[in-house]
Amino acid sequence: LNLSVRFPVKRGGAFGRTSYLYAVDDVSFDIRRGETLAIVGESGSGKTTTALAVARLVAACDGEVKVAGQDFLKLDDQALRKARARLQFIFQDPYSSLNPRLRAEKIVREPLDSMETVPAADRQGIVDKLFKAVGLHPEQQRLFPHQFSGGQRQRIGIARALATQPELVICDEAVSALDVAVQAQILNLLKALQAEFDLTYLFISHDLGVVQHMCDTIAVMYMGRIVEYADRLSLFNSPKHPYTVALLSAVPSVDKERRAETRRILIPGDPPDPVNLPPGCRFANRCPVAQDICRQTDPALRSLPSGHRVACHLVSEDGTPPLTP
Ligand code: SF4
Repeated sequence: LNLSVRFPVKRGGAFGRTSYLYAVDDVSFDIRRGETLAIVGESGSGKTTTALAVARLVAACDGEVKVAGQDFLKLDDQALRKARARLQFIFQDPYSSLNPRLRAEKIVREPLDSMETVPAADRQGIVDKLFKAVGLHPEQQRLFPHQFSGGQRQRIGIARALATQPELVICDEAVSALDVAVQAQILNLLKALQAEFDLTYLFISHDLGVVQHMCDTIAVMYMGRIVEYADRLSLFNSPKHPYTVALLSAVPSVDKERRAETRRILIPGDPPDPVNLPPGCRFANRCPVAQDICRQTDPALRSLPSGHRVACHLVSEDGTPPLTP
């Protein structure tokens, strides 16, 4: 809730001024148990920093992170160590996120050993169950990471993340490094595991196409802010913010008619300097429909009758967007 992360940046050499880069700027969202929230945006939007701040792997300068009623940001070091078992990551790169010197069995068992949340005698049974749940053969427990394919390595990463029965699983670009066919298998596996274990996912991706079958709610981020927040169907069927409209226009539709009707909207130019943000809308220099008010006044995130939340001056009160594909 109202999460902000800023990093000091020194410009102009040793005697230069210290400015602050707001990587995450007043971001709020909630995820219900058993559901998936996707945070989508291009690189530099703040989506990964948001996930790291939720887990306290980077320090938030403001806000709160409540997991099952407990504010993560207020825990002391000892309490945080215990609480971390309730929040696990699945990382982007299954090649570098697994220790190459450990057998698969040890990798999956490692969070159980380090967090000591279950008695030692019960841990091997949990590892066996997880191997089965992620579709790996019991004999593969003895193998090292280099003896697995990319998709299998990601299955090991998933098993490791689930070992401590976390309240929240953060999937940070969890399928981006995999080829398309393997991506689909891993996404299906994540969905099946969610149904089996009542998992809650925070799914970080730069690709709306990847999250379209995966999430219940979507937050679109741009330059550290949420610019649109809506349930999946509303966002895909009726995007409001020009940035979301442009991102969606690049997602191939399975519906033939819709595909023929949709024109691709390219987003020109580069984002503004994050240390020296413009006074108005952060998307204004790239937005095809920007007007004077956009360059002067920063649009607040507001709620629409449809339940959408959107930060754009030109979306009308009834939710009519200023740009359509
Ligand atoms: Fe574009 Fe203006 Fe809306 Fe920003 S506020 S997204 S510049 S129309």
